Amino acid sequence: MDYFLTDNQKIIKRLAKKISDEVISKVASKYDWEGIFPKDILDLLAYTELTGVYIPKEYGGFGGGVLEMCLVVEELSRNCAGIAVSYAATALGAYPIMLYGTENQKKKYLTRIAKGEAIAAFALTEADAGSDVSNIKTVAEKQGDFYILNGNKHWITNGAEADIYVVFAVTDKSKGPRGISAFIVEKGYEGFYFGKKEDKMGIRASSTTELIFENCKVPKENLLGREGTGFIVAMKTFDRTRPGVAAMAVGIAQGAYEHALKYARERIQFGQPLTSFQAIQHMLADMYINIEAARSLLYSTCRMIDNGAKNYTKESSACKVFASDVAMKVTVDAVQIMGGNGYVKDYPVEKMMRDAKVTQIFEGANQIQRNIIASEIVKDL
Ligand SMILES: Cc1cc2nc3c(=O)[nH]c(=O)nc-3n(C[C@H](O)[C@H](O)[C@H](O)COP(=O)(O)OP(=O)(O)OC[C@H]3O[C@@H](n4cnc5c(N)ncnc54)[C@H](O)[C@@H]3O)c2cc1C
Repeated sequence: MDYFLTDNQKIIKRLAKKISDEVISKVASKYDWEGIFPKDILDLLAYTELTGVYIPKEYGGFGGGVLEMCLVVEELSRNCAGIAVSYAATALGAYPIMLYGTENQKKKYLTRIAKGEAIAAFALTEADAGSDVSNIKTVAEKQGDFYILNGNKHWITNGAEADIYVVFAVTDKSKGPRGISAFIVEKGYEGFYFGKKEDKMGIRASSTTELIFENCKVPKENLLGREGTGFIVAMKTFDRTRPGVAAMAVGIAQGAYEHALKYARERIQFGQPLTSFQAIQHMLADMYINIEAARSLLYSTCRMIDNGAKNYTKESSACKVFASDVAMKVTVDAVQIMGGNGYVKDYPVEKMMRDAKVTQIFEGANQIQRNIIASEIVKDL
């Protein structure tokens, strides 16, 4: 399929593919198995300036949009979604600042993120507030020139590895979701610690860690947007970053499909390659159809966002749901096509199957995405 990318987008995709195929493919299995955070790969992405593709030029970026970010995530994910999510989570931490930051906040933080000098993270989820994010208990109390944060965040990607965190906390309990505010917290602030690092099924190269705030002092100028707008900051950020999860899913599915196709061409049974059996051909055809459909929906959604559409909530959720369900199905089928060899660590598809699962869970589980889409559809009537 020709997606008629611009010349710059083709260059970005080609560069990310080169890094993915020549560097990431060689370390993916080791980093996954040993849970090694890919700082060296992030440094390489910084060196090649891919860290700034989605950041405006005035803050040191390339000036691209969500599509440019997704092209990078997709290509990195073809070989390792764990490494890709370490890159994508910085975008998740950067977007709230891009959307709601003051000029000073943008200059101070985005320029460092664009150059790859700083890794970012986004901290919303808590032990009792996963799908039900408005139930967060972390509080921020204003005291003079500071907000004092108390509480714990769970499941934070880039956890202890990040430098800049966008953290959500309750500033007025009586107002429900309208009493939540967003703050920029830097590593090293007094009262900011790290807790448990999760031992995950997939995306094991990424670091997922608990954050602990004990009377953490955050300067008042680090409030993002206005007090009480935190829930909107989070939701508007997700509208722009859920395509990033879809890109991860498309990349994982593409990688698994390529491995399964190559294997099926080479593996001989009953005197013929597996590709001569129609049952296998149909699985490969369905993989191809589903991946192209997911990619088409993803790129269309990105173009809609980057061209200034006003509301793209349901499209953003739809591409995340569709692509992640495709990634799960395609990776399971890739394991099936490769038989016993699909099930062992000598080949990469078992890792891809484990990695695919999380795309149906994080940044809002797929059930929640379907709730969002349904509510938008009903509203439109
Ligand atoms: C590897 C990983 C990385 C993550 N990174 C981050 C991060 O960087 N920052 C961050 O803030 N969070 C992060 N998260 C958290 C993630 O967004 C949540 O795990 C996710 O939103 C689901 O929340 P939960 O795990 O608490 O599940 P729960 O909310 O307990 O849900 C459990 C199941 O019930 C379903 N369910 C819940 N409510 C409903 C409903 N009303 N209707 C139908 N079904 C429902 C869900 O869809 C899910 O299948 C990460 C999670 C993981 C696993």
